[in-house]
Amino acid sequence: MRDFSLASYLRIVSALRDRGLGVYPVRDWMRHKPASGVVMRQDVDRRPGNAVAMARAESAAGIKATYYFRVVGSANNPEAMKAVAELGHEVGYHYEDLSLAKGDVQKALKLFGQHLSEIRKNASVDTIMMHGSPLSRHYNLGMWAQASPIDFGLMGDAFLHLDYRDTVYLTETGRSWKSSSANLRDRPPDALEAQLDDGGTQAVLSFLTRSKAKRFAFSVHPERWDAGLVGWTMQYGKDALANGAKRLIRMLR
Ligand SMILES: [Zn+2]
Repeated sequence: MRDFSLASYLRIVSALRDRGLGVYPVRDWMRHKPASGVVMRQDVDRRPGNAVAMARAESAAGIKATYYFRVVGSANNPEAMKAVAELGHEVGYHYEDLSLAKGDVQKALKLFGQHLSEIRKNASVDTIMMHGSPLSRHYNLGMWAQASPIDFGLMGDAFLHLDYRDTVYLTETGRSWKSSSANLRDRPPDALEAQLDDGGTQAVLSFLTRSKAKRFAFSVHPERWDAGLVGWTMQYGKDALANGAKRLIRMLR
């Protein structure tokens, strides 16, 4: 089976179900603070059609997740936001205002407020998650030195306000589930790391069957999990290029 396809993503969903783990959107995880389960987060960087397809498949499988949409580029798609919300998922804001404001915190906060109210025209928004902006030198979390997401009527930020202790954090940033130099910036420091044989989804599935952990946090990028072969091939090429660029940036920093 082709990895990083919608079908292979759904194998993770059924593995979680086999273990009897409840799957929560970020808002519900923050509210209920469950002792066991999975917090499921989808960062929509681009290709919102993939996000809608994934949201539909998850909904059919009986799980709910949080979809964080960027306002930059193709991800800023009101129809996709509405569709995801109507399927019962949470919609959040995937912000990068500090890098858009080139490091000017006051300007970033103003932009953040404007972008948030744009998204709120399509769906109610309670939580946010920064976009890693791998090619920018500004770390988007930096804007919270002078304000709080609470000031904007939000419950919190998925990076700052979730308790990641005793929680295994899994992300496929850089098209690998193994943590590497390609997943810069987006790993919460308190989270546990999964011991994986390699970066493929099969390794995650076997980890899920043998792991004794009770809490998991998933960070997934729907653009990568394509249902069709053409999209899959294009994303495969793009991931290979981006990983090379990120390694170069790390070397230069
Ligand atoms: Zn992102």
